Amino acid sequence: MVQQLEKNQIIPLEITGLTSEGNGVGHYGPDRFAFFVPNTAPGDRAQVRVVKLLKNYGYGRLEQLDKPSEDRISSSCPVSGQCGGCSLRHISYEAECRIKNGWIQDSLRRLGGFQISMEPFQPSPDPDRYRNKAQYPVGRDENGRIQIGFYAKRSHRIVDSGGCLLHPPVFSEIAQAVGEFLTGHKIEPYDEASGRGLVRHLYIRMGKISGEIMVCLAVNGETLPHAKGFVQELTSKFPMVSSVVLNVNRKKGNVILGDRCVTLWGKDAIRDVLAGVEVELSPLSFYQVNHDSAEKLYQIAGEYAGLSGGEVLLDLYCGAGTIGLSMAGRCGRLIGVEVIPEAVENARENARRSGAHNAEFLCGDADQAAAQLAEKGIRPDVVVLDPPRKGCGAATLEAVASMSPERIVMVSCNPATMARDCRLLEEKGYRMTRIRGVDMFPRTGHVETVVLMIKK
Ligand code: SAH
Repeated sequence: MVQQLEKNQIIPLEITGLTSEGNGVGHYGPDRFAFFVPNTAPGDRAQVRVVKLLKNYGYGRLEQLDKPSEDRISSSCPVSGQCGGCSLRHISYEAECRIKNGWIQDSLRRLGGFQISMEPFQPSPDPDRYRNKAQYPVGRDENGRIQIGFYAKRSHRIVDSGGCLLHPPVFSEIAQAVGEFLTGHKIEPYDEASGRGLVRHLYIRMGKISGEIMVCLAVNGETLPHAKGFVQELTSKFPMVSSVVLNVNRKKGNVILGDRCVTLWGKDAIRDVLAGVEVELSPLSFYQVNHDSAEKLYQIAGEYAGLSGGEVLLDLYCGAGTIGLSMAGRCGRLIGVEVIPEAVENARENARRSGAHNAEFLCGDADQAAAQLAEKGIRPDVVVLDPPRKGCGAATLEAVASMSPERIVMVSCNPATMARDCRLLEEKGYRMTRIRGVDMFPRTGHVETVVLMIKK
């Protein structure tokens, strides 16, 4: 088939799938040779120009849309054409949920060998303006002006983010005010290529319920010139700002935050309430970016945990402790494990504020902590696992299985590692009994899954 196809040839294609990068997928000819085509949607019939041919698949460019998919919508976001953030803005939200559910199903089947029917997909209560956190790179545009925005697709060119539909409008207003301040005071943005300059990222967080805002500048240095004026500017323009922080990041590379923070003004942490848990948030602690969806997620995880009162609950990868704490009233003892020390401090404070006297938190690596708990003879009845994208890995799952809990609730932001990890748990004596997709990140190619595994 490849031999018969040529670069620049125009072929008719029906788009039948969509990747998380937002590329439509169609199959051509009797061999069903796969093409990835940007800016297309499942259901499109189109004329596509062949732009790249590889051994097993190729890339195409949309030349003409013969019949548009019924799922297509026109994007209402002013910056979606240039920014690389939202890969699914060209289809309806309903179609997005259907497609994301399909991604989970597909990973389960292909990577885990699971055939299980999924519970109804949980959409985000609000598909727009749901984010409570933004991390804007700071740099210069082609005219040398300071630019605070988003990276353009597959590049480190910073484009304007004003009007972005994922964030509350005040985030763009703060970004603009910070840009004007840096320009007015001749404070240099960081330059990735040379490693010179000061300001690398503007990082903003807001408590959904409290309305409190934290503004953090990640800098290649120890201090900010005109810091007093900076605080004055922010707090006078934005009364909800209750914390202004410098994060010291002097390392080369693209990691956004360094591990040291200096509070310039106000509180070291902002507050919020999530699923009934009083939350303290330090700049470095993980916090769910979509508050309302996170409450849905925790509700499902709580249902899967099936607690009745006396159980020992282990919350691995607990961040600021919120999942476990949302269930603390329904179990006998809660143990949380988290690798970031500030997050553990937050978790302890969150437990205290929420009156969860049965909760304790350990700082450490999940696999070592799980092994230590297993050695100490701690036998959790229920384990909640909420790992980062790379998943749990064999050692952690080994240690968890050796504690022999009745139920394991896995919360995952990556269907591929979720399927792999659940397969491992199956081999260690667990059976997948319930699974449900939850949309925490509308309009982007990310999807969350909650799984219940029960001891066979
Ligand atoms: N359950 C929390 C946080 C989930 S995000 C919530 O719902 O908010 C995953 C968390 O795992 C992050 O806080 C991250 O710091 C932590 N983490 C990442 N690798 C880890 C490891 N090897 N051991 C323990 N925690 C880890």
